[in-house]
Amino acid sequence: MSSPEIKKLKEIIENANNIVFFGGAGVSTESGIPDFRSADGLFSERYKYPPETMLSLSFFKSNTEEFYRFYREKMLYPDAKPNDAHIALANLEQQGKLKDVITQNVDGLHTKAGSKNVLELHGSALRNICMTCKEIYPLEKITQTTGIPLCGCGGTIKPDVILYEEALDATIMQKATKAIYDADVLIIGGTSLNVYPAAGLINYYRGNNLILINKSETPQDRYADLIIRESIGKVLGEIILKVKED
Ligand code: ZN
Repeated sequence: MSSPEIKKLKEIIENANNIVFFGGAGVSTESGIPDFRSADGLFSERYKYPPETMLSLSFFKSNTEEFYRFYREKMLYPDAKPNDAHIALANLEQQGKLKDVITQNVDGLHTKAGSKNVLELHGSALRNICMTCKEIYPLEKITQTTGIPLCGCGGTIKPDVILYEEALDATIMQKATKAIYDADVLIIGGTSLNVYPAAGLINYYRGNNLILINKSETPQDRYADLIIRESIGKVLGEIILKVKED
């Protein structure tokens, strides 16, 4: 795959020194992590509630065991590996070109790929916190137990992910806003940009290199300086390969 769009993106990246990447679920689907919003047919057979209900704070509190049944089965992919998109972004950071990765995913794959500056808007499944004493536990505390995971103090452990009904972390949102405001290039990938806060955040971008990489159309397409309708892994994998070759 080598199109005029890819060539353009490569040029933009070569001339940039403050790239910010904003990614959604599509970045992780290529690592085999499905977007829970595109729930498969099995879903309705196996669960009594829609995912938005089961992933809400009130459901977590009132139906903790059922929450964890769903969460362990549908939300956790401990064996998932970073794909070409994660690796390319980590490389761009190492080259000093990319300042921040802002992600809506909770799988920790950007960190696994080696990215250091990752702003996780929705938290991380790799961290789990006792609601009573605030002790932090790794993912294994969830994957290697059944039922409701409990802290040594007897408190219930909650994944450090933002559930529905919960506010986003104000500090992380501020950092994300500032990063986008300061960016010379903003690359947005793997998100349909329908979900808050994605759509709002990109309004802070002031530059003239807004790049959208998404397989389908988004409501923000008209603001983009470059649109690439392709898999994010393919595009970024190819770019990083080319930058290295030259
Ligand atoms: Zn505790």
